[in-house]
Amino acid sequence: MSIPSSSESALPEQEPSYLIIGAGAFGASTALHLIRTHPNTSITLVDRDAHTAPFRVAASWDWNKVIRADYSDPEYSKLGVEAQTLWRNDPIFREWYHESGVVWIKSSAAADGGTDMEGFVDKAVRNLRQLSDGKEAEGIELLSVEDAKAAYGGFLRGADYTGVTKALVNKKSGWAEAKEALHATIQAAIDLGVEYRVAEVKRLGIDGGACQGVVIATAEGGAETTLKADRVVLCTGAYTPKLLIDSAPRWEELHAKGRIVAMAVTEAVVPLGEEGPNVLGRRPPVAINDNPTERGTLAISISLACFEVGCLPLPGMNAFKCWGQIIFRNTATDNALSTPPQRPDYAQWDVPQVLRDDVGWALRSVFGESEATRPMEHYRICWDAVTPSEDFIISPHSACPGLYIATCGSFHGFKFLPVIGKYVVQMLEGQLDSALGDKWAWGRELPTVVSHKKLSNVELRDLNKEKLC
Ligand SMILES: Cc1cc2nc3c(=O)[nH]c(=O)nc-3n(C[C@H](O)[C@H](O)[C@H](O)COP(=O)(O)OP(=O)(O)OC[C@H]3O[C@@H](n4cnc5c(N)ncnc54)[C@H](O)[C@@H]3O)c2cc1C
Repeated sequence: MSIPSSSESALPEQEPSYLIIGAGAFGASTALHLIRTHPNTSITLVDRDAHTAPFRVAASWDWNKVIRADYSDPEYSKLGVEAQTLWRNDPIFREWYHESGVVWIKSSAAADGGTDMEGFVDKAVRNLRQLSDGKEAEGIELLSVEDAKAAYGGFLRGADYTGVTKALVNKKSGWAEAKEALHATIQAAIDLGVEYRVAEVKRLGIDGGACQGVVIATAEGGAETTLKADRVVLCTGAYTPKLLIDSAPRWEELHAKGRIVAMAVTEAVVPLGEEGPNVLGRRPPVAINDNPTERGTLAISISLACFEVGCLPLPGMNAFKCWGQIIFRNTATDNALSTPPQRPDYAQWDVPQVLRDDVGWALRSVFGESEATRPMEHYRICWDAVTPSEDFIISPHSACPGLYIATCGSFHGFKFLPVIGKYVVQMLEGQLDSALGDKWAWGRELPTVVSHKKLSNVELRDLNKEKLC
């Protein structure tokens, strides 16, 4: 009989168990990448909505989303290219991706978080040219206004080109069927062994200053239960600041404060009727117009809340989807915290007339006056977690061992669905590249919030009034 050596007799090191809270793009991608790299570990993905639910509150649940690598920031360009490679080729994603091209109509004079639009175009083109020996820039064209009007069979001839000297077309960008791609990602994670659990997380389970799980309620008013895990990863989008404050109201170091703000934009579907097959059959591009705020609905009152408007093809519904330009928050009067409305569906289908008009403005801006009064349906308020720099947070929580944050898509996070989980896993393993680690850190230095155009001070309750004053 041979006596085992001490190394042979030692028990294998136990892998940490994980609770991933939130099954949007960040949580779903994290679950998939984590189970691929750690097939034997216990991973539970928790969300208040079933992944098969016809409607969800997730910003990632949507009819369609823009997929692009056109960024003025080289890190997001690179990440966008990496994601697009998977959107094109990976069996989980390729069925849902449509490379129709994206047209950016941007005024040379308008501001874009401190850089002008010429800056955006030049930087986006330069970034793509520098990636993979310029191959990534092959789809790019800079068109004069006349050429832009004629492009895609005159699709954008009616757009508002005020102040525009050139339009950026990237034929290698496009759009994705978002809810289908999200569902496919979650299903792939489940197939590999991730457990999906439908439950509302009420608060984190904090003991001795460390996070050891979450407290859930499985139904409205239902009994509370604690789920335990070695590591809790919050991918809770716009709900994140509320969840942190509810978990320890007096522990300020745990709270998001100015780091994360729940903000929203309105979207709607524009049915095309009989002309739909003809219009959509020609594979129209995504169109984004940096619509000057002074021309939007009630724009003077909301001059801080500016967002480009846009329209995406939606052939599955014989329609386009558009989004509006008004960005707004929902601040509770007692604690100055912006949260989605406290209803299970975030009241996302209760859209005030002002915001309905705002999405209508997208039609006028992208297609012209003649299209401005087309009927729209499925108006929806979509809530996202936004940071002052628009950078994600993918980081350990510096005040609470066992707690990790991976969210804050800041109105541009969905496109990274195929890859973002890879970086979350690197963060969990302490292997995230230091430049990205600093960029996405919980404790990073925050730029001034005041001047950031996507952190407007417009309140939902004011938009509920007939007219802003
Ligand atoms: C109108 C609009 C248009 C956009 N268009 C684009 C686009 O074209 N391209 C693009 O790349 N990005 C776009 N974005 C941004 C993108 O949608 C988001 O950045 C991204 O989807 C955020 O993903 P997430 O996983 O962080 O959050 P979410 O997708 O919001 O997911 C968070 C999940 O957490 C769950 N959750 C929260 N709290 C709890 C709790 N207490 N208990 C249980 N579950 C909980 C929620 O149910 C939800 O499912 C857009 C955003 C908006 C608002």
